[in-house]
Amino acid sequence: MKVLLNNASLSESLRPFNDLGFVPTMGGIHKGHLSLINKSNKLCKKTIVSIFVNPKQFNNKEDLKSYPRNIKKDLKILKKSKKVDFVFIPKFKDIYKDKKKSKITLLKKDKILCAKFRKGHFEGVLDVMNKLTKIVNPRKIFMGEKDLQQLYLVKKILERKYRTKVIPCKTIRDSNKVALSSRNFLLNKSNLKTAATINKILAKIKKNIRINKNISYFLKIKKKELINNFKIKIDYLELRNINNLKISNTSKNSRLFIAYYLGNVRLIDNI
Ligand code: AMP
Repeated sequence: MKVLLNNASLSESLRPFNDLGFVPTMGGIHKGHLSLINKSNKLCKKTIVSIFVNPKQFNNKEDLKSYPRNIKKDLKILKKSKKVDFVFIPKFKDIYKDKKKSKITLLKKDKILCAKFRKGHFEGVLDVMNKLTKIVNPRKIFMGEKDLQQLYLVKKILERKYRTKVIPCKTIRDSNKVALSSRNFLLNKSNLKTAATINKILAKIKKNIRINKNISYFLKIKKKELINNFKIKIDYLELRNINNLKISNTSKNSRLFIAYYLGNVRLIDNI
């Protein structure tokens, strides 16, 4: 496993390879990331993982400051997996050497879910994914369904622009069915227990949707119940179609999307 610390060593090392699988991350490596790496390892000749906490996609300074960072531990896990050929750890200036402002904007119809609550977030994600894809030039990019809206937007934009395919990967969960996330490192035991209980309730809500006619009203009531019972802030609880992310009135091809806060930590999931 070769660690690449700047653009020059990246282009030199990657030059001989044209069947690259790319796993972009912000570090805080966990089994969710490793499942993407495993898939890349199976489908591509070489696998490159990037670790870059992209400041431009954070709409909240405190969130950026507290985001888990432990490069040493990350490298140890990646090396142990024996599935990674290259790790790219760029500096801010490697990605943003070109000081021009990004032209990426979201369509009005895409300003839903997290885009509605985290102003500028996806513009930052799409900008960095565009830049990373240009530098790495991968044949395939592996991304998790846990961040389904991110996957949807990145796929739509990058596949039009580059000769690359964005491959969706299943959400990996802990033994209590809580979706793994680097932000979970910021949760204490009691928070994690609450997340597990909320997850169970979400599964029940999803099951009951099938027999419930007025879905938006039903979800409004359930959202209120969750807020009151757990004293949490919820940004959204919505049933949406997995292919176009439009509000859905059937559980077929749909997921229940949630974003909520446990203390200061914002968690998202879709089930
Ligand atoms: P992050 O480091 O959180 O930016 O995530 C990097 C990639 O890993 C993204 O494509 C995420 O969707 C994916 N990912 C994060 N958590 C999980 C998970 N629990 N299961 C599957 N993929 C995940």
